[in-house]
Amino acid sequence: MSTEKSLNFLEEIVKEDVASGKHGGRLLTRFPPEPNGYLHIGHSKSICLNFGVAQQFGGQTNLRFDDTNPVTEDTEYVESIMEDIAWLGFKWANVFYASDYFDQLYNFAVKLIEQGLAYVDDSSAEEIAALKGTPTEPGKDSPYRSRSIEENLSLFTRMRNGEFKDGEKVLRAKIDMASPNMHLRDPLMYRIKHAHHHRTGDKWCIYPMYDFAHGQSDAIENITHSICTLEFEVHRPLYEWFIQKLDLYPSRQYEFARLNLNYTVMSKRKLLQLVNEKHVTGWDDPRMPTISGLRRRGYTPESIRAFAEKVGVSRRDNIIDVGLLEFCIREDLNKNSLRAMVVIDPLKLVITNYEEGKTEILTGENNPEDENSGTRDIPFSRELFIEHEDFKEVAEKKYFRLAPGLMVRLKSAYIIRCDSFVKDESGNIKEVHCTYFPESRSGSDTSGLQAKGVIHWVEANTAIPVEVRLYDRLFGVEDPSSEEGDFKSYLNPHSLEVKSNALGEPSLKNAAVGDKFQFLRKGYFCVDRDSVGGKLIFNRTVPLKDSWAKEQKK
Ligand code: ATP
Ligand code: MG
Repeated sequence: MSTEKSLNFLEEIVKEDVASGKHGGRLLTRFPPEPNGYLHIGHSKSICLNFGVAQQFGGQTNLRFDDTNPVTEDTEYVESIMEDIAWLGFKWANVFYASDYFDQLYNFAVKLIEQGLAYVDDSSAEEIAALKGTPTEPGKDSPYRSRSIEENLSLFTRMRNGEFKDGEKVLRAKIDMASPNMHLRDPLMYRIKHAHHHRTGDKWCIYPMYDFAHGQSDAIENITHSICTLEFEVHRPLYEWFIQKLDLYPSRQYEFARLNLNYTVMSKRKLLQLVNEKHVTGWDDPRMPTISGLRRRGYTPESIRAFAEKVGVSRRDNIIDVGLLEFCIREDLNKNSLRAMVVIDPLKLVITNYEEGKTEILTGENNPEDENSGTRDIPFSRELFIEHEDFKEVAEKKYFRLAPGLMVRLKSAYIIRCDSFVKDESGNIKEVHCTYFPESRSGSDTSGLQAKGVIHWVEANTAIPVEVRLYDRLFGVEDPSSEEGDFKSYLNPHSLEVKSNALGEPSLKNAAVGDKFQFLRKGYFCVDRDSVGGKLIFNRTVPLKDSWAKEQKK
């Protein structure tokens, strides 16, 4: 079997271009986020692709903030984006901002006007739309299309100088109002926006449109392969038109299918609504599909990179099951996380034949998947706590946990048999009484007894109180954006369940924010940042198995 991994279609293109000496054998990609929100799992696909392909074939990647819309952009977003990319494990060659190029872009626009290839249009947005035509019908020329070069130059200067109000004028490329490609029907290049920009302040009141900024920024940076998502395929002729008419570096655009994930939304505009309207606690709420949310939830950079790799790169749109993302983090944490016992819903258990006041120290494996991970001490005594759901007053068939007369093994400890139970005044089970078998100790069991079930537990006196946050899908339907009405009406009301009376084994005491564990039988968990200075709080990253599909069928 070949050990070489198969290349996706973009890797094939890049490999060939580098080999053939196109661009002088140089390879420079860029990742171009607009700083108008936090990065999400969709972006990580683009990041892994842009940085990954460069790494693979000896190139580099620029981080470029596509900050041409002053109204929605903010430095908070710039900082979070840099943090997230670095956390994912990638290094950019340079950080640039489209706004660094505002002067050059302005000069490019003047150059097009001078060539008779751009004009100032006084039409309103509605008037422009009305003359645009439809995909099957050609558009009509604007009455301002035949302005002289001198008039256009003078008006464009006055636009820049702030002599006009927002929307009063725009600069358009003069291409072809009858083009079958709507993007070539005299697309807008500049609009007037009297708005403060997060970097250029009040220097500008005209801002370039995406189409005029993006390709030119690529060319200014000598980007060789400009990789973007499929919806920009129809923009490519325009991308090439500007570069050609301005005689700039021949950057080339390539498209791939964006990543969609079920049970969530991925547009920054929608994610911002969830934040602003407090449906979540913030951009890094562990239920969010943002990189910061996933990080806080307990995802590792390795698991996200593995996910991007598994999803692959293609030119066909599809929706990926979130189960694949969960599979990737389980694989990682199974190998790399420490084990611990935490009882989420505690029920007291008394071992009536165990000496009062005695505590013994048992041994548990830190991680059975990793022989170098060592062991931990687990105290054991007469009084323990087990999970409420591991006890039943009456055992049904094939029930292998605790019920009067039944035996189970306490993980890393002894086999016990349930003898009786105590109820409180309202009839709830309060305490379970058991007998233990001293010869059945894990690791040195000579009892000859068989217990079918193994349950987790904590010792009553040494257990530490912890809070556990159980997360579920943020939305109750696969594709909230395609449903009728407001996508927010499909939020899953049970996406967070807080268990504040949980008890953890004492080895957890010094766990730090971000530390990851497998809680036996319960799933993978990590310490939340809300723990600082108080009780330890654990986020459930994922349950141990995919119970979702099963639950849906119930
Ligand atoms: P959104 O629609 O979520 O606001 P966007 O495309 O406007 O996303 P940008 O900040 O412009 O977000 O995106 C930066 C880069 O990431 C672009 O190259 C974009 O194509 C890519 N990207 C954004 N969303 C996805 C996705 N779901 N899958 C793959 N790539 C994506
Ligand atoms: Mg965008």
